[in-house]
Amino acid sequence: MTRQVVEGVSVPTDHFIGGRWVSSPRRFETRSPIGWELLAEVARGDADTAAAAVGAAVESFAAWSAMSIGDRAGVLHRLADLIEAHTDEIARVETRDMGFLFESMKQRLVARGALNFRTYADLMVGHRNRTWDAKNMWNQVQRQPAGPAVVITPWNAPFMLSTWKLAPALAAGNSVIHKPAEWSPLTAGLLAELTVEAGFPPGAYNVVQGVGSEVGAALVADPRVRRISFTGSPDTARTIGQAAATNIVPFTAELGGKGAFLVFADADLDAAAHRAAWQYDDSGQVCLAGTRLLVAAEVRDEFLTRFHQHADALVLGDPRDPTTDIAPLVHPDHRDRVHGFVERARAAGDVIVRGGRPVTGSLHYEPTLIEPASNLSEVVQREIFGPVLTLQSFADEAEAIALANSTPYGLSAQIWTSSRLRAERVGAAVRAGLVWVNTFLVRDLTAPFGGCGISGIGREGGDYALDFHSDLKTLMILDDSTE
Ligand code: NAD
Repeated sequence: MTRQVVEGVSVPTDHFIGGRWVSSPRRFETRSPIGWELLAEVARGDADTAAAAVGAAVESFAAWSAMSIGDRAGVLHRLADLIEAHTDEIARVETRDMGFLFESMKQRLVARGALNFRTYADLMVGHRNRTWDAKNMWNQVQRQPAGPAVVITPWNAPFMLSTWKLAPALAAGNSVIHKPAEWSPLTAGLLAELTVEAGFPPGAYNVVQGVGSEVGAALVADPRVRRISFTGSPDTARTIGQAAATNIVPFTAELGGKGAFLVFADADLDAAAHRAAWQYDDSGQVCLAGTRLLVAAEVRDEFLTRFHQHADALVLGDPRDPTTDIAPLVHPDHRDRVHGFVERARAAGDVIVRGGRPVTGSLHYEPTLIEPASNLSEVVQREIFGPVLTLQSFADEAEAIALANSTPYGLSAQIWTSSRLRAERVGAAVRAGLVWVNTFLVRDLTAPFGGCGISGIGREGGDYALDFHSDLKTLMILDDSTE
């Protein structure tokens, strides 16, 4: 098995298939966003790797799906215990590989990884099949494990996001082939090691590393796969959706966002401005971020003054340093992509209110605010996935809602107001899968999670994800036929 020491942690860099570490003749580099130094050369899977991984998942499915729910939940809780015991190592490796703030990674994201497994273990144990009498029949809805599932994840917050998608698939009784993103592949190997210690049977959790268009495409095209759970960009979702359609496989897609951040005149302006500046958190590489600041015209100037005060206080630096607020972007290509949006906005006549340049000598990008010339400006209509916000104002509630609903996305929105009635009214009118009022990100994991429009297909979270990963069967017994 090939390993590489990263931040003092020995990390496996091969595929994990059928309980064994498997190499590939070709490898790809993963580099750290902190100094762009080479961290590891990771196995680069191909069509044969994908076929082997699906084969291992098919073989393991019988044992994993037949395990009693209590036993399976026990294995998932043991995995959660192990994640908690290894929090520091996982967070160190992920910070170096992906660049997110270490403290936030440790306290928020790795802890959430453990909670993801606990939540789905408990949901399975607590689940009762729905039963009812109708038309002289006893009816029962049963959840049957669906079969091998492919889980494809993006490079941002890889550990938390992966566990969020893996936990329901595994809890439902499906064996899984996980394809992590090539820009942040390392913590998937650490998770694989922990699954062995937790008592997963070989082949229940498989990791295939490599490039999306190579091994990812081969995985989703395999007809033995019975579920595809994807998080990433709309463009990739379109390609994967075609493979899912060919094999008639249920497919969920959690895609990008262009969240509206609505500030009404009756809001706590300082709290709203503070939270608005924190949309730069993780350098804006957050699908849920409220990147379109939509502010009531009469408080626009005061809001902007306060916003600048909070944004000025943000410290850009090394994500391992606890005094750092804003981490670097993940990759030079991504930095160039972000800058491309800003350059085109400048050329098109949008006003760069703050920032607008890459930081020399690092992968940081200046926290940027743009006042667009029009609501049709590219920076308003397309996801940038960097520290770039737009500022627009509205005259009344109707215009606020119209602006909020004016992009093809519909993942999240935030509403800042002191009026409960307005919160309910505007909350109902905004087209988004998740709407927060006077807060952000905090949510119950049993709630549905997903987007409208090009932000996604289907819902994750709670029973929604367990239903997706199951074949729902209705059993109907004629009342007279029982003795
Ligand atoms: P991406 O679509 O480029 O890649 C995502 C994953 O798909 C990677 O693992 C990649 O290797 C794989 N992939 C690429 N081509 C493939 C193919 N043809 N077949 C199979 N797999 C393939 O996305 P990204 O750049 O890694 O992630 C950023 C995007 O993810 C942003 O749009 C962001 O908003 C979105 N995202 C959404 C959520 C959400 O929950 N809604 C969460 C995080 C990120």
